[in-house]
Amino acid sequence: MRRYDVPGPRYTSYPTAPEWRYDLDAQDFAERLEAAGTAGEQAPLSLYVHLPFCRSLCWYCGCNVVISKDQSAADRYIDHLCCELDLVAERIGSRRTLTQVHWGGGTPTFLSEAQIVRLWSEITRRFKPLPDAEVAIEVHPAVTTPEQLTLLRQLGFNRVSMGLQDFNRRVQEVTNRLQTPEQTRALLEHARELGFTGVNFDLIYGLPFQEPEGWAKTLEQVLEMRPDRLAVYSFAFMPEVLKQQRRMPAEAIPTGRAKLELFRAAYSAFVRAGYRPIGMDHFAVPEDELARAQEQRKLGRNFQGYTVNWDTDVVALGSTGISDVAGGYFQNVRALPRYAANVKHGRFATERGIRLSTDDTLRRSVITQLMCNFWVELGETGARYFEPELERLRAFEDDGLLVRTGTQLELTPLGRLFVRNVAMVFDAYLARAQRPRFSRTI
Ligand code: SF4
Repeated sequence: MRRYDVPGPRYTSYPTAPEWRYDLDAQDFAERLEAAGTAGEQAPLSLYVHLPFCRSLCWYCGCNVVISKDQSAADRYIDHLCCELDLVAERIGSRRTLTQVHWGGGTPTFLSEAQIVRLWSEITRRFKPLPDAEVAIEVHPAVTTPEQLTLLRQLGFNRVSMGLQDFNRRVQEVTNRLQTPEQTRALLEHARELGFTGVNFDLIYGLPFQEPEGWAKTLEQVLEMRPDRLAVYSFAFMPEVLKQQRRMPAEAIPTGRAKLELFRAAYSAFVRAGYRPIGMDHFAVPEDELARAQEQRKLGRNFQGYTVNWDTDVVALGSTGISDVAGGYFQNVRALPRYAANVKHGRFATERGIRLSTDDTLRRSVITQLMCNFWVELGETGARYFEPELERLRAFEDDGLLVRTGTQLELTPLGRLFVRNVAMVFDAYLARAQRPRFSRTI
């Protein structure tokens, strides 16, 4: 435990965001989009829309958010998203079908019903979701109405992810996030009646005052509701970077073994209840498409999370949106005025990014396989290329975390808890002198 509890990336991308450079600009992104456009209409895209507004700030939050009670701010933001949609459409040419759409935040249901309809029609005026596209939205049950959910379903949304974190009142109060189990249950039941599938709950472990008894109660309440999917994220406490986290009592935050026990409790409870562990910290009922994909070692991941639609370019709209296009990552600026000023004047709002080298691409593929499927087939060439890494992995084999068979690597059930540590062995940037700050792996 002590040996492996070190700071490390979560590998939502490789190379990780601290390695991205600020000398990549809007022109680079435009060129990459044009290159991606040559794949034509037969190659569907994934479209992410970042909606940064929230009505109040949760103290643990690490997302890019704008706290507002002013609904008209969202109107102006949608105007700017339309400018960006035009820019993308112009560059990507005829490549206009979508296999995945994801509205994330912030709180996307900050938008009124009229704003939801407007944004959706602006997207579908320029792009065409395929009949079987995964169309997902993140919602906060305390601010989402049944009418909004009904409307979203009518528009074509078919996946919903609900944030809940912990039902314990003390934990909720100290993190400034109040939401009752009844609200969550009512929204879940409504989503089911409407025909949403792959309904997900997000929980967080490692928040202040989370202790075994209260956490067990939350797990019991969650399992009674039985969502299709569950994500149990490790709380990343980084008060140096995220000022709002300083408002929580640091001494009440579980760390090390106490924190790992919370994850183990969730893991055991979910597996006992029939969920399949998928990826690093997700679970799904066996009939869910993510569980089936992992069984076949075909699960993938992009910035929207684990998905079966991962093998495509991702175009992201909105402040801080991260596109993953034609072998490069490109991130938009964070500040809304700068984002708006760019797209209103016909320029992409790209602030930083990276073009992947051949070495990056190889390592990304290995890291993604490990993080999603706990397994990777390196092949003869790969095994030769990664000889130094395989040597370093012997310690993990000796600790019973990893089994190597020929050119295949597979994590043991215990090793899955330490998948980030194994992935770190393949990270070529970690050895460099000046390291950015990451949260701890446990
Ligand atoms: S609702 Fe989500 S995005 Fe908004 S402040 Fe809370 S944690 Fe952050």
